[in-house]
This record gives sequence, structure tokens and C-alpha cells, in this order.
Amino acid sequence: PFFKEFVPKEFPEESKLLAKLNANENPYGPSPKAVEALREVATKGNRYAWKELFGLIDKIAVEEGVSPKNIMMGPGSSDLLEKTGMVLFLDGGNVVSADPSYMSLMQVAQATGASWKPVPLKEDWSHDLKAMEEAVDSETKLVYICNPNNPTGSITDSKELLDFCSRVSEKVPVFVDEAYLAFLEDGAKQSMVSLINEGKDVIIARTFSKIHGMAGLRVGYIVAQESTLEKIQKITRGGMGISYTSIFAALASMDDKDFQDSSREKNAAAREYVYKSLSKLGYDYVPSHTSFIIFPIEMDGKLFLDKMRAKQVGVRAFEFMGKNWCRVSMGTMDEMKIFTAALTDVLA
Ligand code: PLP
Repeated sequence: PFFKEFVPKEFPEESKLLAKLNANENPYGPSPKAVEALREVATKGNRYAWKELFGLIDKIAVEEGVSPKNIMMGPGSSDLLEKTGMVLFLDGGNVVSADPSYMSLMQVAQATGASWKPVPLKEDWSHDLKAMEEAVDSETKLVYICNPNNPTGSITDSKELLDFCSRVSEKVPVFVDEAYLAFLEDGAKQSMVSLINEGKDVIIARTFSKIHGMAGLRVGYIVAQESTLEKIQKITRGGMGISYTSIFAALASMDDKDFQDSSREKNAAAREYVYKSLSKLGYDYVPSHTSFIIFPIEMDGKLFLDKMRAKQVGVRAFEFMGKNWCRVSMGTMDEMKIFTAALTDVLA
């Protein structure tokens, strides 16, 4: 594995930054309707939310076109990536994924006792599905795919992925993390969720943290076969971690399509601005299908983070494929201007 992250001394506080572009948060969220719902239900914080949670599950099931029995909720999709990673690897085995990719599930799987079989992304930054299929062996318990991928922002063709999931899930479950899919114009069409009704052993993860702008409110879910969820829920519980208030915020946010559309549009406009700025500065970038952009920097990653931090700009830095990279999240247009000005100085 050649994927490494440069870690700053401390994770910066929002109040100390002029542009917080380090965690792929949605700068516009939560939706005003979600905020209104939060205010209305704040006093219900003394209650558990059993029935209310089932209400949210039913609504999500309708949107996804599956049965409520195919849904497991969690406080953010992290919780479900981790629970899946923990439960499926209790008896060891290995997990196959791209490198670089979003490491949450693989980290827990490895800590639980599994090994990680990384498969480098292709030159066009898509998943090397052929090599991933070949990497599956008798010890493999799960394949993890992040599409679009973090930290590269790149996409894998949905038809090829659908074929891959159909075939490979006959041998092992395939986990598809669709955290950023809703930033695509036709995200719903590119989802793997249709495989659930075909009985395929796929697990699709979705989150309210990104397009809904609710990262701090912690709501996410997975869609999977009932038998797979039974296995995970025998050891861990789904919705117990979600707060009463967040459930109502999620319900309200689902109804606010205008907010989701506007997040998608503003995100795309910020991306265009950053592409132009990087090109002007003579920098390459990986075309993004997400709410962040990654581009190579010719500087030590840690030094780069420190210098950007001195300009009160928070970003992330990685090393892979023999290069150092900056990953910048799409903030407001004002934040992107601050970022560009800082970058111009730091890389001068
Ligand atoms: N999956 C991917 C690909 C992510 O980038 C993130 C967060 O950045 C998550 C999952 C976890 O998000 P959350 O736990 O907020 O749903």
C-alpha cells in the first residue's frame, strides 16, 4: 500500500479558519427546513425515538424503492462502515478495495483481524474492476468500492460497476459507498441500489452529511439484503445511535429538494472556479465528481498544510503514486477565493 495521509499537528477549529475546506462538509447546510424541524423538536430530547425512527426508515425505503427491512440506520455512515467492518471480519479474512480509497471500513477490518488487499486505481482514476475481481480469493469476506471515490473524486462507470457487483456478489458481498453520488446530476441512475431487489448481496451506504449538509447531525444508512443486516444487527444495533432531533431534521431535509439541487449547483460552480484557478497557476487536477478536488503539489505535505494553516485555510494532504497531493473541499465561493489566494502565495 502506498497511500498515506500527512497529519497536521491538530485538527483546526472552525473559528480559527477563514476557509474550512478539510472535511468535505457542505457549507450551505443544514437545509432551512431541517433547522426549523430541529427547533420544533428540541424539547423532545428527553424521549427515545423508536416510532419516529421507523417513520424515517419507511420514508427512506420509499425513496430507495426497497423494503424497510433492507435498511439499517446509523449516526452517520461511518458507524455502518465500521460495524460492517467489525462484524464481517470477526473470523479474519481479507477485504479487497481500491488504493487510494476511503479507509474507514478497511481500518476497522484490519483492527478486527483481517488483512487489506489494495488494488491501485487505473490511470484514468477509475476502479480497476478486473484486477479487483482477480484479487478476490477464498479468504475474501468483502469488497469495498467507493463511487465516486474519496480522496480522488473520480468515478467508475456505473454500467461496468453494475456488472461487477452482480457477478462478484455471487462470491462475496460487495459494499458500495455512495456518499458523494448525490452530487452527480443523475446520481439516482448511477446507484447500485437496484441490485437489492434482484437479490444480490450488495451493501449500499448513504449519508445525510454531504448533499444534505448534516455532517454534525449524524444520520446515515445502509441498504442491504435482510440476511446481511441480520448478521450485522445480531452484534450491533442500528438506529440506537441517532438522536430524536436528527431524525426530524433528516425527514425535513428529504422533502427539501430545492436545497439539495442548490447544493449540487453551487458545488459545481465552486469546482469550475477551482479548476480555472488551478489551470491559471499551471496545476493539474483530477476531474472531480464530488464535493472536493485533489491535485498534485510539489511540496512536502506537512509543510504545505502548515503554510496553508498559517493563512487560516484548512485542507488535507496525501501521498500516493509517487506524488504529494492537496485535497480541497468545495466551500462557498468566498472561501474558494480565499483558498486560491493562499495557494498562490504558498506555492509561489
Ligand atoms: N464515506 C465516505 C466516502 C466519506 O468521504 C465519508 C466522510 O467524509 C463517510 C463515508 C462518512 O461520513 P458520515 O459518517 O458523516 O456519514
